[in-house]
Amino acid sequence: ERQKRIRNFSIVAHIDHGKSTIADRILEQTQTVAERDMQNQLLDTMELERERGITIKLNAVEVNYKAKDGQEYIFHLIDTPGHVDFSYEVSRSLAAAEGAILVVDAAQGVEAQTLANVYLAIDNDLEILPVLNKIDLPSADVPKVKKEIEDMIGLDAEDAVLVSAKKGIGIPELLERIVSDFPAPDGDLDAPLRALIFDSQYDPYRGVVINLRVREGVVKPGDKVRMMNTGAEYEVTEVGVMSPNAQKRDYLMAGDVGYLTAAIKDISTTHSGDTVTLVNNPASEPLPGYKPMTPMVYSGLYPADNAKYGDLREALEKLQLNDAALTFEPETSQALGFGFRVGFLGLLHMDVIQERLEREFDLDLVTTAPSVTYKVETVDGETLMIENPSELPESQNIRQIEEPYVHAQIMVPNDYVGAVMELAQRKRGEFDTMEYLDDSRVNVKYYLPLSEIIFNFFDKLKSSTRGFASFDYELSGYRAADLVKIDILLNGDRVDALSFIVHRDFAAERGRIITSKLKEIIPRQNFEIPVQAAIGNKILARTNIKAYRKDVTSKIHTGDPDRRAKLLNKQKRGKARMKDVGTVSVPQEAFMAVLKTE
Ligand code: GDP
Ligand code: MG
Repeated sequence: ERQKRIRNFSIVAHIDHGKSTIADRILEQTQTVAERDMQNQLLDTMELERERGITIKLNAVEVNYKAKDGQEYIFHLIDTPGHVDFSYEVSRSLAAAEGAILVVDAAQGVEAQTLANVYLAIDNDLEILPVLNKIDLPSADVPKVKKEIEDMIGLDAEDAVLVSAKKGIGIPELLERIVSDFPAPDGDLDAPLRALIFDSQYDPYRGVVINLRVREGVVKPGDKVRMMNTGAEYEVTEVGVMSPNAQKRDYLMAGDVGYLTAAIKDISTTHSGDTVTLVNNPASEPLPGYKPMTPMVYSGLYPADNAKYGDLREALEKLQLNDAALTFEPETSQALGFGFRVGFLGLLHMDVIQERLEREFDLDLVTTAPSVTYKVETVDGETLMIENPSELPESQNIRQIEEPYVHAQIMVPNDYVGAVMELAQRKRGEFDTMEYLDDSRVNVKYYLPLSEIIFNFFDKLKSSTRGFASFDYELSGYRAADLVKIDILLNGDRVDALSFIVHRDFAAERGRIITSKLKEIIPRQNFEIPVQAAIGNKILARTNIKAYRKDVTSKIHTGDPDRRAKLLNKQKRGKARMKDVGTVSVPQEAFMAVLKTE
């Protein structure tokens, strides 16, 4: 029957190894998308994904494939992001599949995220099909990369499918291998419904659109369903699949990956990882959900216009539906007013969330510099978790501060090992081990403070290895360190939103750099503004922003109306993201200046 002809699989790989392009070729060759509608990285539907050329969200589509055995198969293909910040998307997509296509760039070989994603697939008991992509490149070395897959991952790569997604080579073979190598789903159709929610979006007309994988049973419009963890009940209005646009179906059954709507307006009732069952014939146990994510970094998000606080809350709630790794709670700042402390999985994640809030919800935001969570033991024997540097207790009340460390692996050609080690040492790293991957590449492992990693470690790594290094990390625990809080004073007033925590050895230097950065960023006003960096009452650095003499802002000398409009617009946008802190107007950029203090 139908279930035997279903194949659910995800495509995983290191960033840029060609996942999205392989997905394109599969959609094309199965005529899922008409030729005239075809475009590159078709599943990267978000504007932001297209602009940056990266996949941010998982994306599930149904594809029909007529195999050589004459049978019509139903594929549910899930494209996934490759960047470390979005591995949560990968692990959710893997929980909805039986197989994983592991794409490895035949010119680059196995990279850090190749390994990270393979381990996720193995954890989920998936069948793994290795694919070597980009065999059209002159630098492709198929035997060498096959050997890497065998040595480093322990997968048999002899029968790896050889593909050039760009030239369309090897795709027919890949389609056949999907049929023969991946198992069909095996859930019981007659059992009570159990369907795992792996993603959702909010649609203003239809309410929450739930993406789910049906494990057992059947669900159809008119059914009364219950979310097993929240207990909320709804009547199903529509079920269907994405192919790649929404297509209604009469029902979804065990083995299917599709969507469900039920006029759900209260978004708090629907979480990724919850199990949907039927009210009349409920399952006794929910499916295992997802491990909750621990945010790596926090930053304050404030509406530029204080009246938009409620809008920001609503936007965060809606976005959380579509991004289960996003966490937030209210916070107040003397300088910025009411806002939220938001947790992210990394700086790219932070960047993406900010952009999505501004674009999809039309908000202007002021964000504070990201910070890790410090563990502080007070002299009273209390332990505090500090996510906001301005909340660090006075130094005489602190017995010890600990900071989060990560275990990092950096894969790099031999020639750059020296450069990598130099960088890691400079970032307070502790060398762990070094393994040879083959005769030309090494895997260097370090323990590093997370805070040093989020401050543009990756950019530095890329530039000092000419882009050849790949990098992955996981939290490894807390370690005590000699850390201090630096406060910034503008016109004599401490600005809580500008405080940050650094190692004492770097304090004087960072204090000096940040005051001069702020001097560049904060526009002159009609009085002189002293800018100071201080630890407690001790001033580390000081500079002055001179008063301006003439009003230069009112003049825009340009004849071109287009350019003029653009300039005005830019000014408006800049103004919208300006905060009056005491007597000083501070632009958004200033709050991020601490990221650039090296
Ligand atoms: P993803 O990050 O894994 O989704 O990778 P993409 O599918 O976005 O591809 C990354 C880049 O590699 C794009 O510029 C593609 O055009 C290119 N690319 C993908 N497949 C091939 C291939 O088979 N050969 C060559 N030469 N380039 C490819
Ligand atoms: Mg992609």
